[in-house]
Amino acid sequence: MLESLRRIVQEVNNARDLEEALTIIVRRVKGAVGADVCSVYLNDYDNHRHVLHATDGLRKDAVGRVRLELGRGLIGLVSERAEPINLDDAANHPRYECIIDTGEERYHGFLGAPIIQNRKVLGVLVLRQREQRHFGEDEVTFVMTLASQLAGAITFARTSGELARLQDEGIPQRFLPGLAASPGIGIGVAVVVYPPADLDAVPDRRPEDPAAESEDFRRAVRNVADDLDRFASRTQVHLSTEDMALFDAWRLMLESDTLIDGTLSRIRDGNWAPGALRETITEHARVFDNMDDTYLRERASDVRDLGRCILMHLQNQVAAPIQYPAQAILVGEEISAMQIADVPREKLAGIVSTTGSGSSHVGILARGMGVPAAMGVSDLPVGRVEGREMVVDGYRGRVYVSPGPAVRLEYQRLAADDAALTNELQALRHLPAETTDGYLIPLYLNTGLVSENRPLGIEESAGVGLYRTELPFIVRDSFPGEAAQMANYRHVLELFAPRPVTIRTLDIGGDKPLPYFPMHEANPFLGWRGIRITLDHPEIFITQVRAVLRAAIGLDNLQLLLPMVSTVTEVDDALLLIRRAHDELLEEGYQVRMPPVGVMIEVPAAVYQAEALARRVDFLSVGTNDLTQYLLAVDRNNPHVAKLYNEYHPAVLRALLQILTGARLHGKEVSVCGEMAGDPLATFLLLGMGVHSLSMGAGSLLRVKKVIRSISKVRAREVLKVALQCEDAGSVRRLLLDALETVGLGGLVRPGR
Ligand code: PEP
Ligand code: MG
Repeated sequence: MLESLRRIVQEVNNARDLEEALTIIVRRVKGAVGADVCSVYLNDYDNHRHVLHATDGLRKDAVGRVRLELGRGLIGLVSERAEPINLDDAANHPRYECIIDTGEERYHGFLGAPIIQNRKVLGVLVLRQREQRHFGEDEVTFVMTLASQLAGAITFARTSGELARLQDEGIPQRFLPGLAASPGIGIGVAVVVYPPADLDAVPDRRPEDPAAESEDFRRAVRNVADDLDRFASRTQVHLSTEDMALFDAWRLMLESDTLIDGTLSRIRDGNWAPGALRETITEHARVFDNMDDTYLRERASDVRDLGRCILMHLQNQVAAPIQYPAQAILVGEEISAMQIADVPREKLAGIVSTTGSGSSHVGILARGMGVPAAMGVSDLPVGRVEGREMVVDGYRGRVYVSPGPAVRLEYQRLAADDAALTNELQALRHLPAETTDGYLIPLYLNTGLVSENRPLGIEESAGVGLYRTELPFIVRDSFPGEAAQMANYRHVLELFAPRPVTIRTLDIGGDKPLPYFPMHEANPFLGWRGIRITLDHPEIFITQVRAVLRAAIGLDNLQLLLPMVSTVTEVDDALLLIRRAHDELLEEGYQVRMPPVGVMIEVPAAVYQAEALARRVDFLSVGTNDLTQYLLAVDRNNPHVAKLYNEYHPAVLRALLQILTGARLHGKEVSVCGEMAGDPLATFLLLGMGVHSLSMGAGSLLRVKKVIRSISKVRAREVLKVALQCEDAGSVRRLLLDALETVGLGGLVRPGR
């Protein structure tokens, strides 16, 4: 059974359209179970009916003609209950309805299984037998399993077929759902991109002249470095510090020993350059593939992209330049940062990817550049859309292919509204984040690596509220030394001086393992992470603290932040080590100063000890990403539970209040640096609670500033008061949306004004 199941699913996945997919299903299932009839009814919710879409065993001319009112008969019962129904003699069942058109009155045995996707019943798969028959448990589970696997294939085949016919028939518009990755509306023409060279197809081969192979490889790497520089300088004017970091990460990977020495040593060991490169890239990408953290896992595709680019140069292929239309929607299964950078910014109207999510590198880049994007649009048949008109709704993650006139008109109107809003936001660049009743709440940037060039967006932030130090550790093949780290930190401290820069100590751990520091844990999120790891390895911690303190000499705009704290002892121990590093440096003659030190509150235990923690340090910073994940027991990277992950959950709001109360007792400030800080809806809550500052990605700064400048603190407190009476996250969100609409700013979180 398992083997026939696998084969059927595979055949269905390869079907050209829905009709072919369903024909395969009914024929193969009927054969596998030995039934007299197998049919598929699909639910047409618009017209309130079940429609016979395919059959093997009933009259063929009934297909499309047999339409049952939604909920009628046994088909309706299976659909309504969303569970299988197995009857020896269907004719005796009270819900049985005989449909003359199909001649089905002669059948007794009945097995119906619902076809469900994302809790929605798409249709019913039905088996019938002339005689009375009780389908065995194996058969029931076989049909159920098949139906569950077919839902995705049915949706895909339906979209594929619709698109093929769309141009001629003008079929009514249905959008393809995906994930909202970057807000905005994009209308343009699809340009489909695909990987430039197939690294996996490269065979092993003995090199005739290893020295020449090594030279070819080095030249190819230099060429890619040149390409990167060109792309980076072209993109730079559109990107913030944080987003330019992607190019830095690429650069670091390109220059890493793992890549260069690894490939050269494989050439010396007897493989030609392309083969050696394939081995190196596969090994390097696998390290990232195995990481639990989505952001880091995405780096695997960066590594593969780099590999493909090097291979292209090795093969002396120069990609023919793409002629982009005036409004291009870049579409692909996996889009690389380089492919995005290849499109002149004024021509890039949108980005659509069938894979990934908002946290994938394409999503981050799109937000940084202000390009509307939808990710994970899995039903989009990429091969069929080149040159088609497309609409990307980046607010809702929706995509329309060849939109009808009504859809196009509506979205043109929304896009015009959007443009007006963007202009309005630009006008806020140099204005303070001050409420209408005069309350100032500084807005800081979250950032990681910092590019060589002076980035845009830096002027309007009050400094850096969260500098994540993990990336330089991850893209290397050994721990970076004090000098290398210092150069990195000095750069960001100088860039923002005299404004404060909050540097967080290393937050790696079970979910973000370093390639050169292996750890295997059954439960990595509850394992060796952040401060736990650095306290167990004081040599790592002290090296980093020394580098940071030395980097700040003469600037004195440094603040230190400790991640993943769950006990006061961790803070006491960390403070001892920081003081030790400080004293050692003074003894060595460095004019270092003790910086303000803060604790991240991102573990529930820390919430309840906020007061004791605040007593020990200078400030608290709430990491709402981890805090939400740990409070709600919802893995922040797991799509199956993504719906449960919600920062408006009453438990999260109460935790925030508790933290503020604890900090207030010692007159310490609280900042929020998780994603919640950059959400214009949450601004009401955080402002109302009296959070002292917010730190967010550059793309959110002006949107949040707009909300702050449009409301009073008194109003924020009123909204908070009502929010605290809500018992679920949905009610809180509705309340906040309402509040935002009332001040005319709904357009910040949805299309239109
Ligand atoms: C957080 O957990 O909210 C946070 C800011 O840290 P990170 O996202 O880096 O874990
Ligand atoms: Mg965190």
